[in-house]
Amino acid sequence: MTKFTDLKLDPKVLQAIAEAGYETPTPIQAGAIPPALEGRDVLGIAQTGTGKTASFTLPMITLLGRGRARARMPRSLVLAPTRELAAQVAENFDIYAKHTRLTKALLIGGVSFGEQDKLIDRGVDVLIATPGRLLDHFERGKLLLTGVQIMVVDEADRMLDMGFIPDIERIFQLTPFTRQTLFFSATMAPEIERITNTFLHGPARIEVARQATTSETIEQRLIEIVPARKDQTAKAKRELLRAVIDAEGAACTNAILFCNRKSEVDILAKSLKTYGYDAAPIHGDLDQSQRTRTLDGFRDGSLRFLVASDVAARGLDIPAVSHVFNFDVPSHAEDYVHRIGRTGRAGRKGVAVTIATPADKKYLDAIESLVKSALPRVALPEGFTLSEAAQQPPRKDSGRDRSRGPRRDSDRRARPVKPHGEEAAMAPVEAAPRTAESAADKPVAKPGRQKAATPRPAAQKPVSQPVESAEEQHRSGAGRSGESSKAEPRSEPRGEGRGTGRQEGRQEGRNDRRNDRPRRDDAQVVGMGDHVPDFLMRVTRINSSDD
Ligand code: AMP
Repeated sequence: MTKFTDLKLDPKVLQAIAEAGYETPTPIQAGAIPPALEGRDVLGIAQTGTGKTASFTLPMITLLGRGRARARMPRSLVLAPTRELAAQVAENFDIYAKHTRLTKALLIGGVSFGEQDKLIDRGVDVLIATPGRLLDHFERGKLLLTGVQIMVVDEADRMLDMGFIPDIERIFQLTPFTRQTLFFSATMAPEIERITNTFLHGPARIEVARQATTSETIEQRLIEIVPARKDQTAKAKRELLRAVIDAEGAACTNAILFCNRKSEVDILAKSLKTYGYDAAPIHGDLDQSQRTRTLDGFRDGSLRFLVASDVAARGLDIPAVSHVFNFDVPSHAEDYVHRIGRTGRAGRKGVAVTIATPADKKYLDAIESLVKSALPRVALPEGFTLSEAAQQPPRKDSGRDRSRGPRRDSDRRARPVKPHGEEAAMAPVEAAPRTAESAADKPVAKPGRQKAATPRPAAQKPVSQPVESAEEQHRSGAGRSGESSKAEPRSEPRGEGRGTGRQEGRQEGRNDRRNDRPRRDDAQVVGMGDHVPDFLMRVTRINSSDD
């Protein structure tokens, strides 16, 4: 078996690896590091969790050991599809390069251009970036890519999904023809094949086996629920999810909960919080500092439930996750593999529970054919029944004129303090299964790790209001959960960066501008109610030949 010391890595790198506790290279490392050190292009077909980050970072650090950075001309470039992934590569770089004097800069949205410009001006050895943000810097004339000796493209298949391939091609063209390219993708779609044929020169191709989806460390379960009403599917699933979490009890130390749509991520996180579960959302529309805070909290154990979209969670390395819950069946089978791969890592045991409705059959079939086995069906948690509220039409109130936009303060004032309509039904009924449970069934509250897993008394609950309001917006905008993911299967997960290649850049740019100027929707809008300017009220006579 290959040892790290056989790999001709810089002794400083070897020291850092030993300190990180790595004993032997993973297959992708054993395969990719030697050709990379020889200066060859590498095509690595491997997915996250295989140790691929080190397979390009370690040789890069070794190769860059000689030479010095020049102002505005990074010597190497790592492109990652999402901010989180880029930040993770940067963290890995810090670990492996800690005994060297190499410098790095991380160019991602949500961080001010000024700070990043300063670093680039000083000169960096390694630039780690998302494609859109890199091009934004380039277009502002702050960056020269003609000094790039090594270029890494990480998770190319996800770049393709997110519409970044035109950006990647452009970046390739901005770097010297003589550069070395290390290119990683979990799958080789025809478009990826085309890019590698165009931009890689005689690459060493290293393919490592797909992460075993039926890994013995992951216990997979499928719970099927038939919602009483189609228009209450999401509500029914939320009730079931809470019951499943409760049934797991203390065995569920933490969990990532996946939804297909960003809007559903928000709704689910809010709903769980409402019911006393320690949950927070993560998806591409949240600002970077919030995403970082949430992830840090999840990593250090102060947050128990991370509700995520596929893109946001992709590639995240969080070693100890006891459970993954698929609140929605993913509409793309590979996403199932990525999702459940968040648990059962590093030899630990994990549980992956998928909630499915009859409408998900098509997607389930695709998953089962990909993983080449049937997902084990399990029964609903003992004693679980849908609440009355989940069996009735959504409350009348949710059908109010949505064109009016969010509820105004005056609306709120006008509402009776006492819950009414579905709210009244929902508060006691949704709470009922939990209050009826024995304390032993509930997750044991660990001080500092989770909030009490009991619902607040109905009287204190401002609760169903925000959750249901969010759902209203969701319904009015994007259709109903579950069904909507079927109608527009790709729109949410991919939507975080999909579209034109520059979308992410634009989106991130927008976020940055948000810091400087008031957002349009935050800005004061002169209403037309009492403030209609006089000239608009004047009668205008139009002279037309028909008159
Ligand atoms: P990656 O596929 O790059 O996301 O890596 C997945 C995880 O494996 C990370 O937590 C790495 O720190 C860890 N890792 C990478 N290489 C090794 C190795 N040779 N031995 C043990 N753990 C490793």
